Amino acid sequence: MADRAAIYVQDDRLVWAPATVLQQSAGKLVVKARRPANDASLESCPYVELQTEGDASTLPQQNTPAIVEDLVSLDRLHEASVLWCLRERFFRGKPYTRTGDDIVVAVNPFKWLPQLYDAQTRERYGEKQEEAHAYAISNRAFRGVLDGRDQSILVSGESGAGKTETVKILLRHLCGDSSDVASRVLDAAPLLESFGNAKTIRNDNSSRFGKFTRLRYDGHGRLRGSDCETYLLEKSRVVAQAPGERTYHCAYGIPDLDVAALHYVTASQRGTIEGLTDEDRHSQAWASLAKCGVSAKDRDSLIDMLKAVFLLGDSTDEAASLLGVPADSLKTALKERTVTVRRETTIVQRTPAERTAARDALAKELYARCFDWVVALTNEATSVDAWEASCGLLDIFGFESFPINRFEQLCINYANERLQEKFCRDLFRSVQAEYEDEGIPFEPIAFPDAAAALKLLEGPMGIVDVLDEECARPGGSELALVSKLKTLHDDNQRFYVPDKFSANKFGVRHYAEPVSYTVDGWCERNRDALHADLVELMKKSSVSSLFETDDKRQKTVASKFRRRLKTLLEDVSRTETRYVRCVKPNSEASSSLFDAPSVCAQLRCAGVVAAVEMTRAGYPNRSGHAAFLARYGRLTSESDVESVARSLLGERRHAVGKTRVYLGPGVLEFLERLLSTA
Ligand code: ATP
Ligand code: MG
Repeated sequence: MADRAAIYVQDDRLVWAPATVLQQSAGKLVVKARRPANDASLESCPYVELQTEGDASTLPQQNTPAIVEDLVSLDRLHEASVLWCLRERFFRGKPYTRTGDDIVVAVNPFKWLPQLYDAQTRERYGEKQEEAHAYAISNRAFRGVLDGRDQSILVSGESGAGKTETVKILLRHLCGDSSDVASRVLDAAPLLESFGNAKTIRNDNSSRFGKFTRLRYDGHGRLRGSDCETYLLEKSRVVAQAPGERTYHCAYGIPDLDVAALHYVTASQRGTIEGLTDEDRHSQAWASLAKCGVSAKDRDSLIDMLKAVFLLGDSTDEAASLLGVPADSLKTALKERTVTVRRETTIVQRTPAERTAARDALAKELYARCFDWVVALTNEATSVDAWEASCGLLDIFGFESFPINRFEQLCINYANERLQEKFCRDLFRSVQAEYEDEGIPFEPIAFPDAAAALKLLEGPMGIVDVLDEECARPGGSELALVSKLKTLHDDNQRFYVPDKFSANKFGVRHYAEPVSYTVDGWCERNRDALHADLVELMKKSSVSSLFETDDKRQKTVASKFRRRLKTLLEDVSRTETRYVRCVKPNSEASSSLFDAPSVCAQLRCAGVVAAVEMTRAGYPNRSGHAAFLARYGRLTSESDVESVARSLLGERRHAVGKTRVYLGPGVLEFLERLLSTA
């Protein structure tokens, strides 16, 4: 174990900096620490002498070794040691670190590390577990599949953390040898990316939708097919983009479409993203379509539909002709709307602003249906009727908290709240299992209770319900939503009022942090309805098949999402679940910067620190039998581990398991004091 004088001190850049105690007297502490001025240059950074306040014994102590494959094996477990370990591994080209068998933390290396993913490494993980790796997770999942048990791997993290790349790495491992099926399954990825990814300020290839892919295997573990569900495509991007962002990749590859001139495309710069030019990406996507068995005719109508979407902002005539409807009908449908009240029909003229809104709504809806169509096509190409076991891979937006949080953030954070709850329950079970294996009594440990948050979000008269109510009520409004929530959830700990003077804000204390939501425009976003006149017109267009099943769409976005989330979690709960927590080391996409404060915040959002702490609840420190005897054995005349522990610790909280000694809070420090005075 580490020397007692080796500790971590607080630091602005590193959050925690490793330090050695030089002198300690009455509240004054002199340490020698490495405090880098610039993160990347820590290696060459000299030690500096610092004076701080406090008591060395209350500061987190360093571990030996400080760099481990599995965070659970750190003998002293706290945020400082987790952060330090991840940081050092990042700089050594080791992006993966385990937390037990079923969780991997993946710090985005921002440079391809080919040796980590070569065929040899892939195969090695087929045999036995070695160093921490995403393959260790896919390998375990695959073993489960071979035993006929359904599996799932939930990949989370903020934008740019590497979820999509990780899922692709896992997919390639799980698809096994290059069979026909495997290549069809793998080909779907670039296709979906072309339609559902875009350059944002956070990530040049940002997924603007959530995705759950299930691989289907036969009884011999042979891949038979797959099935993919998508969630919450960001439709608003189709008609407008924030500065520095682009519209969906596919727009830049549509033949005979001058993207630069389009009203709907604010940032028209073409470019090379992830080594692919727009043209490469386009031909890849179109080739995948062909491989999915899509006929040239279908492909052409997909292209026409996309063109129509992007041209709608500029030319109704051209869009109408591409959609196969008379231009006049389209113009009328955008200008007027039919309102029927008590069987009486009147025509209402739209204001210019309403016309623009109707046009944009049509473009967004058409694009969303193009996207769904592409998903359906890939699903058809890879579907199977029978399988023995599945392995699901979830690539979904992580927790979000911005200066202004809107309806989209609420949906995303709601999903994360549910996933986090599942994560905590799984973790709880694994801790219980470890204690059982060790043969020590399991005492209930406190874990964050998600019930109140879920009640507030999805329960009866929760946010989803009240929002729906306001959407359905004539004269319903966002302000009424906020005021109703204030009355209904006043006593819910997870609800709060961020600003007494803003009637358009409410707050939710999420598991990660409190988020204040601004409700402007929520009713519109939630209803998300295309006016009936436009739907009727589309039913007569060349893309009528995409509107056939339109049942006036009574469901709102929030309630549809609630239902799908419920189904997703039910599906996942029937599987063995593993987790990859992706972490973004910096926002410059640099392979040599580790922004500790940001990483620390992400670890908190992902519940990683909580996970390790929970694993240690009750017994924050642990030691293998041999290490324990080697260090403390000399303090007594006893020789077996149980007697040594009993004679040294007496009533102090500890437990001797089959392979480890578990120490309660303060017990390790007590033993260390014994040593230093011995
Ligand atoms: P979003 O939520 O915006 O979709 P994401 O979490 O899916 O973000 P990715 O698109 O997977 O993020 O990763 C962002 C970028 O980081 C990639 O384009 C790639 O450059 C880099 N990256 C991610 N994972 C790896 C990896 N394992 N090796 C090398 N580079 C990686
Ligand atoms: Mg992504």
